[in-house]
Amino acid sequence: MALIVQKYGGTSVGNIERIKNVAKRVARTRSQGNRVVVVLSAMSGETNRLVALTNECGEFPVGREYDAVVSTGEQVTIGLLALILGEMGCQARSFMGHQVPIITDSRFGSARIEEIKPDNLMRELDKGVVAVVAGFQGVDTDGNITTLGRGGSDTTAVALAAALKADLCEIYTDVEGVYTTDPNICTDARKLEKVSYDEMLEMASLGAKVLQTRSVEFAKKYDVPVMVRSSFNDAPGTLVCKEDEDMEKVVVSGVTYNKDEAKISVLRVPDRPGIAALLFKPLTEAGINVDMIVQNISHDSHTDMTFTVTKTDYKRALKLVKEIGDKIEAKEVVGDPNIAKVSIVGAGMRSHAGVASRMFEVLAQEGINIMMISTSEIKISCVVDIKYTELAVRVLHKEFGLGKDDIGEEK
Ligand code: ASP
Ligand code: MG
Repeated sequence: MALIVQKYGGTSVGNIERIKNVAKRVARTRSQGNRVVVVLSAMSGETNRLVALTNECGEFPVGREYDAVVSTGEQVTIGLLALILGEMGCQARSFMGHQVPIITDSRFGSARIEEIKPDNLMRELDKGVVAVVAGFQGVDTDGNITTLGRGGSDTTAVALAAALKADLCEIYTDVEGVYTTDPNICTDARKLEKVSYDEMLEMASLGAKVLQTRSVEFAKKYDVPVMVRSSFNDAPGTLVCKEDEDMEKVVVSGVTYNKDEAKISVLRVPDRPGIAALLFKPLTEAGINVDMIVQNISHDSHTDMTFTVTKTDYKRALKLVKEIGDKIEAKEVVGDPNIAKVSIVGAGMRSHAGVASRMFEVLAQEGINIMMISTSEIKISCVVDIKYTELAVRVLHKEFGLGKDDIGEEK
């Protein structure tokens, strides 16, 4: 008898008819003899609505009461699914985060799971009851309700799968799996059969929206196999798992892009120890995440520094950096929000040479200027003018043989 965790996203539980559809799938999995834990998101749009309501109450930092409000969407869907399952003759019981309990730290709005006590769920599972757990929420050690950050029910599901030593964690969503790139940009994008944790981590943090990044970190740490698939049909999905030999053979598995970045350049700063620290410390203190950083070689003991932040943080960051720029005697601070980051990802990059130059050449052939470059072992990212995003994605997807019709490098 297998233990399976199934997570259904907001669109899959968007209305009663869809929740009934989910119930059918859950009941089927149960009747096949499996022990089943279901994790649900709120109905699609509901969490946005709740966040907007809190914003209407004033300008306050995210805190205890914010979490008390935005966590409620999930309470509704778990209750509804448990009701419908019961009606169908499939025993089910809903669990809020604190009823499991899923214990987190107290960082409201972006809490981290510290411990999951499996006994309450196990007791129900042993009786043949389906456990329906609210995603996205937990409880801190003082009993306050916490939330895990937007998209957090993916993390709830994977963390539960790890704690319960589940055989599989299925993430049901509105796409059929992980694609070689955004199918809205490349109509010939291909669904990947398998992708490694590291590739998925890069893709998720680079802008592919299928899984919350933290859920992939969890899956990797506890070696939880994750199957991403559609709740609207029975098509096989994409398995996110440990890297294997097949994956190393494929040089590039995906092309991603992120339009949610902006760049800031600090021009002609004195090149001396401590300048970078002076520049970035205030940003860290303001909770602003810096992504790519490039520093030019120094001319006459001055240098230029460029880095990227998210578009949401851009205005705040620019203002801060202008203030610091004056203090450190920079000539000028300039910003540009009209950029995008285009990246190629592949486990095979570790063992294949010349991937970067191929990427640069293809972009050059299209007359696309590269403003910044960053790399990891299995990823190369280029910052380009935002208006070239789609073009860059298409030519790279083609160059690395990722399309349905490119049999070249397909394994
Ligand atoms: N309902 C939450 C959100 O919209 C959590 C989730 O769906 O994963 O962010
Ligand atoms: Mg999601």
